[in-house]
Amino acid sequence: MLRIYNSLSRKLEEFKPVYPDSLNVGMYTCGPTVYDFAHIGNFRTYTTSDLLLRTLQYNGYEVDYVMNITDVGHLTGDNQGDADTGEDRMEKTARREGKAAWEIAAFYTDAFLKDYKALNLTPPTNLVKATDHIKEQIDLIKTLEEKGFTYTTSDGVYFDTSKFKEYGKLSNLDEIKEGARIEVNPEKHNPRDFALWKFSYPHGKTFEEHQRQIASSPDGHRDPRNDNEQESSKRQMEWESPWGIGFPGWHIECSAMAMKYLGSSFDIHVGGIDLRETHHPNEIAQSEAATGKPFVKYWVHGAFILVQGERMSKSKGNNYKLYDLEKEGYDPLAMRYLYMQAHYRQEMNFTFPALEAAQISLNKLREFVIRAEEAGETHKIGCAEFEQRFLDALNDDLNLPQALAVAWELVRSDYPNSAKLKSLLKFDKVLGLDLEHAQIIHDREELVDIPQDIQDMVRERENLRRNGDFKAADQFREKIKKLGYTLIDSEKGTQVKKIRS
Ligand code: AMP
Ligand code: ZN
Repeated sequence: MLRIYNSLSRKLEEFKPVYPDSLNVGMYTCGPTVYDFAHIGNFRTYTTSDLLLRTLQYNGYEVDYVMNITDVGHLTGDNQGDADTGEDRMEKTARREGKAAWEIAAFYTDAFLKDYKALNLTPPTNLVKATDHIKEQIDLIKTLEEKGFTYTTSDGVYFDTSKFKEYGKLSNLDEIKEGARIEVNPEKHNPRDFALWKFSYPHGKTFEEHQRQIASSPDGHRDPRNDNEQESSKRQMEWESPWGIGFPGWHIECSAMAMKYLGSSFDIHVGGIDLRETHHPNEIAQSEAATGKPFVKYWVHGAFILVQGERMSKSKGNNYKLYDLEKEGYDPLAMRYLYMQAHYRQEMNFTFPALEAAQISLNKLREFVIRAEEAGETHKIGCAEFEQRFLDALNDDLNLPQALAVAWELVRSDYPNSAKLKSLLKFDKVLGLDLEHAQIIHDREELVDIPQDIQDMVRERENLRRNGDFKAADQFREKIKKLGYTLIDSEKGTQVKKIRS
């Protein structure tokens, strides 16, 4: 029986699907905002979702898994604790890169999916984009309006949190952010009210009307809550609505799409712990106010990853992407292994030595698989004792560190290799380390064609190292890296690996 920590009750609970005795489970995870590459923090959360999904499947459930792609409406003010202010992240990046917002979304969605695959994360049954569901979002806002949960201000349509009596049941009100570092919008009835629909231009005007107003007003009639740049340029992503031209607020997309694909009440909703304090209470409010039914039964939140003990941020230069790790010669699946070494509700600390250790463990597991396969015997049954202990660890609130420990005990045990292999490959249905392809991965690394000029540079670098000129050798390493290859120095010599493009 699977036990999982439910943020709603703040307790460990036995997992029982919404529909009793059903083996079908509906699960939703808040996906990325596609204005930049996803970093290893974001991927920790998606790996937690994946491990939960695989654990459910291991227990015999069939999971309908939905993830969204936020390609509009997530404003920069969210960094200060207010998701309704600032500029749209997509539009801002588009302006900075001189591209169309749609191009930005397409580019970073594609990059996200490549990394997603490299981490062997299970493809969602439905991967859904906010911009493909504007109608569903408008319809939901209309329902909320009809039921008296909304009001309109000069910059948008807002949800009135005081009308939803259970607001704060996921996080209490002290925990729900109200715009920590910015002036509270004076038109909001309550500081925690949030935008369902934002107007592109103030008072629901068209761009042209707005421009005329700016031109005729002596002080430029700027709204201090918006970025100046945004005020004076036309938005690329905007839609007609009953309330005026604009775009959806960040929270409404998840309610609209989750309910479209999974129904008004479904089993599990996953996200990073930060979402427990704003985004998720708002999802609950919108959905339950509209339907009158409980939205989600189990809320599962993953803890953050720190890098060398610090919060990740662009300014610190420590918001590593998968590519940064691959450039150093690490396998994306070594990162997956590292994620599994921490319990999902514990903050974890990323360091390169820890990643190195994870890579070594992964290599050893692969070597075991190759050796066991070479032996050629087949065992029809695995090692029941270990299989039971592995399942127990998973079902104990996804105790992956324990599950990995059981896998290692199995490998080191006295059972015949082929029986151990059978159980290990079964475990890998959840671990997702692609162990069944260990031989292929090994061969691919051995066989990759290294162009002659790279080989020459590697040789040159080795000479430099032999002569103690490490500075010049490092310059060669950098040059080789720029050409798409990485070097791993070991006792056996230098191995050259192609960096995934
Ligand atoms: P975003 O693209 O910013 O909406 O974030 C996508 C997901 O990544 C959300 O579920 C966040 O909670 C999660 N997330 C962001 N930063 C981290 C981090 N450092 N560690 C773990 N999860 C994170
Ligand atoms: Zn969401």
